[in-house]
Amino acid sequence: MADVLTNIWDEILRHLQKHNSQLWRSWFEQIEPISLDNGLLRVGVPERSWLQFLRQECNVGFREAAQSVTGHLIGLEYVHTEQDDMSGQIDSDLAGDYNENVDLFCLNPDYTFNNFVVGPCNRLAHAACVAVSESPGCTYNPLFLHGSVGLGKSHLMQSTCQVMLKQSPQARIMYMTCETFVNDFIQAVENGKLYDFRYKYRYVDTLVIDDVQFLSEREGSQEEFFHTFNSLYQARKQIILSSDCCPSEIPKLEDRLVSRFNQGLVTRIDKPGYETRMAILHKKASLRSIDPPEEVISFIARKIDSNTRELEGALTKVHGLAMLDDGPITLELARQALGEEPTPAHRQITISQIIESITDHFDIRLSDLQGRRRSRSIAFPRQICMYLARDLTGHSLEEIGGYFGGRDHTTVLHAYRNIDKLCDHDENVRRLVNGLVTSLTQH
Ligand code: ADP
Ligand code: MG
Repeated sequence: MADVLTNIWDEILRHLQKHNSQLWRSWFEQIEPISLDNGLLRVGVPERSWLQFLRQECNVGFREAAQSVTGHLIGLEYVHTEQDDMSGQIDSDLAGDYNENVDLFCLNPDYTFNNFVVGPCNRLAHAACVAVSESPGCTYNPLFLHGSVGLGKSHLMQSTCQVMLKQSPQARIMYMTCETFVNDFIQAVENGKLYDFRYKYRYVDTLVIDDVQFLSEREGSQEEFFHTFNSLYQARKQIILSSDCCPSEIPKLEDRLVSRFNQGLVTRIDKPGYETRMAILHKKASLRSIDPPEEVISFIARKIDSNTRELEGALTKVHGLAMLDDGPITLELARQALGEEPTPAHRQITISQIIESITDHFDIRLSDLQGRRRSRSIAFPRQICMYLARDLTGHSLEEIGGYFGGRDHTTVLHAYRNIDKLCDHDENVRRLVNGLVTSLTQH
């Protein structure tokens, strides 16, 4: 019977991975089936903080997969299985108290320090969060993270909460978006329940409020937040805040709040550079148990440099397309998946345009590019030309070789790889290539 159940569960996971690749995470493999009775599948989850996320974000996907695999309507129940003695004790003794705290928010199990790639763009913010998670209330208080959208603020804040919860499962940690705080406040005012509201917020051990720029829209909430802040701060409770800009730039934020926010550590997260983007893509791929070829990773990292959320979206898209075809993730597929999106003009770029921009930039002649000279001053621009031709036009390697004095396809491939490698290691080359691509796609 146990074997049958395990087989069913394995099939459900496989189904999910194949048909709902966006939802799939490698940590699902740590979930164990417990029983299947009367249409209810109970599964054991090793980390308590995953429960809420599974219930809230994954339930529909799991139900559909279970239904497809068994042909029956199946409901799922997620229960926490204790892993070590310590947590087991806390479980049985204090489960009630703990759940009350956990119900207040939902942390994404993917958002851990382990899954966060540290680079020059976020090193300080990461170090500050780690320090705060290890001794809340003692190091940086408040901790204020800012940076534009999709750069990992929520990820870092939630990682901090996960560590604090792990270290002291009874701690009252409240993580929420500023919008939730504001709505909660408005409702409390409307229902005459301000007392309850204050009790709830002022007796936490750690208050984490994401996207506080939304405070600017509500004056009444600013007043309330100010008092909440003060009472927590005086009691040496940890406060962590994030925003899309630094405190003084938040529009219409009262001066006294700006100065409170500046009291602790204010740290900025910047856009990730190329190496960090590569590392993030590797991390995200491993979270989904996929292993795209290096050239695909570097293609996406070069193509998408705005923010990490979009980077991840691009990977999801390429992966999704491969799943649909039931085939491997290839560079062709990645091109197809991303080709049209950020740079719609790619399709119409011709080799002549590329040649023109290169001869212009390097101040050389077409005959140089097509000739046999191998000096670096000619060979390098020639290789860049071939590289761009492969990346930006639909021509085959043979065709591209034809344009450059009848070189064969292996020469073109060699040029492509060479420049690709240089882009990885040489900031100047990368900048040059990106600049050429931008000017070609924009004109
Ligand atoms: P923000 O709150 O700043 O808008 P998020 O924390 O929601 O951004 O991050 C957007 C996505 O990018 C998330 O999936 C997050 O995991 C991912 N991400 C951002 N920075 C990193 C990083 N340094 N390493 C790994 N993933 C990251
Ligand atoms: Mg966020």
